[in-house]
Amino acid sequence: MSIRLLPSEVASQIAAGEVVERPASVVKELLENALDAGARTVTIRVEGAGQRLIEIADDGCGIPAEELPLAIERHATSKLQEAADLFAVETLGFRGEALASIGSVSTLTVTSRPAEAAVAGRIRVQGGIPGPVEPVGAPAGTVMRVENLFYNVPARLKFLKADATERRQIDALVTRYALAYPQARLHLHQEGRPSLQTSGNGDRREVLAALYGVDVARQMLEVLAEDDMPAEGDSLRGKISIGGFISPPSLTRSNRREIGFFVNGRPVQDSALAAAVLKGYHTLLMVGRYPLAILFIEMPPDAVDVNVHPTKAEVRFRHPERVFSGVQRAVRRALLAHSPVPDLAEQMHWDAAEVSAPLPGGGSLRRMWETETWERTGAEAQASNAEEALPAGGLANFQAPAAPSLPGTPAAILRLVGQIAATYLVAEGPDGLYLIDQHAAHERVLFEKLMAQHDGRMPSQALLVPAVVDLPPAGARLIAEQLPVLANLGFEVEAFGHAAFLVRAVPQLLARMDPAAALRVLVEDFEEDESPLREEIEAKIVARVCKRAAVKAGQILSPEEQRSLLADLEACQSPRTCPHGRPTMIHLSVNMLERQFGRKA
Ligand code: ADP
Ligand code: MG
Repeated sequence: MSIRLLPSEVASQIAAGEVVERPASVVKELLENALDAGARTVTIRVEGAGQRLIEIADDGCGIPAEELPLAIERHATSKLQEAADLFAVETLGFRGEALASIGSVSTLTVTSRPAEAAVAGRIRVQGGIPGPVEPVGAPAGTVMRVENLFYNVPARLKFLKADATERRQIDALVTRYALAYPQARLHLHQEGRPSLQTSGNGDRREVLAALYGVDVARQMLEVLAEDDMPAEGDSLRGKISIGGFISPPSLTRSNRREIGFFVNGRPVQDSALAAAVLKGYHTLLMVGRYPLAILFIEMPPDAVDVNVHPTKAEVRFRHPERVFSGVQRAVRRALLAHSPVPDLAEQMHWDAAEVSAPLPGGGSLRRMWETETWERTGAEAQASNAEEALPAGGLANFQAPAAPSLPGTPAAILRLVGQIAATYLVAEGPDGLYLIDQHAAHERVLFEKLMAQHDGRMPSQALLVPAVVDLPPAGARLIAEQLPVLANLGFEVEAFGHAAFLVRAVPQLLARMDPAAALRVLVEDFEEDESPLREEIEAKIVARVCKRAAVKAGQILSPEEQRSLLADLEACQSPRTCPHGRPTMIHLSVNMLERQFGRKA
């Protein structure tokens, strides 16, 4: 075949494939156009899961009738004038591609009237072929009607998911925009039924409930932070602000799909941003669990390049490190503001022993943990942990490198009172009574010690007779990849045939356990297709070792053991939760005791 230029309809369809992948992408482009047009109210109607009809009506600025033929042409836009504008885009659109793309794979009817025009204009494009502009009567604003989507691209139709799935995607998309644009009234009707209505009163919490449900919405923590973007040797100035919502450590999902971002009002996917959020949670999350987060990041338009992806779903930051560390800090600060030490509610009865309601003000112990240990960066934390000699680094040890500014340090913050039910330790602290779950606390202590062992090795115990352990394929692959991590933990393991391993030594912590069981525990429920980051795998493996090795509930501890557990817990960076996110302690403040005994109103 000789080389030929493609007919323009074919070229359009190819280009359309990048922008319009499914009904939700049409909704996205048209909704963005309405928001760019300054609409206060946008009404979206979807029928036949978006294949039969998508109609979006707005009360924005409208398109003059004489510009309608241009609006539907490729590379026609009112939002950019010269190439330089590309680096300071302040609108959602700028590529001038959406209407042309949508018009080439559907029947698109645009009806529009700027407020100052007497009549509206209407133009129809079918499969990329435009008709004439006709005058019609219509309210000010724009109505975009997309019918028979993909009627001329059967291949695309085949790739659509079940109707319910496409509808759900549209719901999710519109809800996210509703959250990003709380000042706009958004109404979405699917198959004739209202599926989302926002009031446009600017209240994001209200929209949150539609996104996650009332229960979850109530628990979400607000993020609000502003950081300077100092101009280090370049002209960029201005602030980066980070707002939105994150879940408390107790509210998680098994994947990171619920971590979303809007950058300058534009939804973006960015795994590095997601990683920054996870870092903000530190070791507070149970391994393999991920928070819910929806963050709105605002920065000067020239600090971000939005022109790197056809659907504008990816961006490039001019100063990625500042953005990522800003996000990490903002997340951490929001978690701090929320008190993860569960206090018994002030007004509760002793028998209704539920933990809730953070205590206003908080005890000095908690303040110290929060301000001193939380604000340390990961690197500092690791460094100070590494200095902590095993077995137990005391409080003094811990504070020396990390917090020299701490005023008068007591020898110990928690004074042991005793053990109850062979399960809980009772301690007196600076502001009342602490009940500590010995298993959870020990898990936390072991976890932090093991995670700090990046260079040094854990004490290991050689087996008299090496054990051969067979593993299922996924587990075997994981172990084979993680041999260095295992070695640091004190496992001496080598490949032995196809999916078997020879275990020569195990961590001293697990010496009492059957070596085969010890190895299997590490890979029990890793999913076959899971490819977590290296550090996450390590954290998971370590958390499992800790779970096995920690003292159990029901185990009687000598007073010496109890005291050293308390001291070790105090030395932890995140003493309040176990590596799986459960609380290690419950706090009964003096204030609360006084109320309960009727000493205070
Ligand atoms: P882009 O949004 O990238 O500019 P589009 O193809 O989506 O490209 O739209 C082309 C042009 O049509 C826009 O630049 C804008 O001038 C106009 N337009 C599209 N939708 C609307 C609308 N709802 N209200 C007003 N003008 C619109
Ligand atoms: Mg657009």
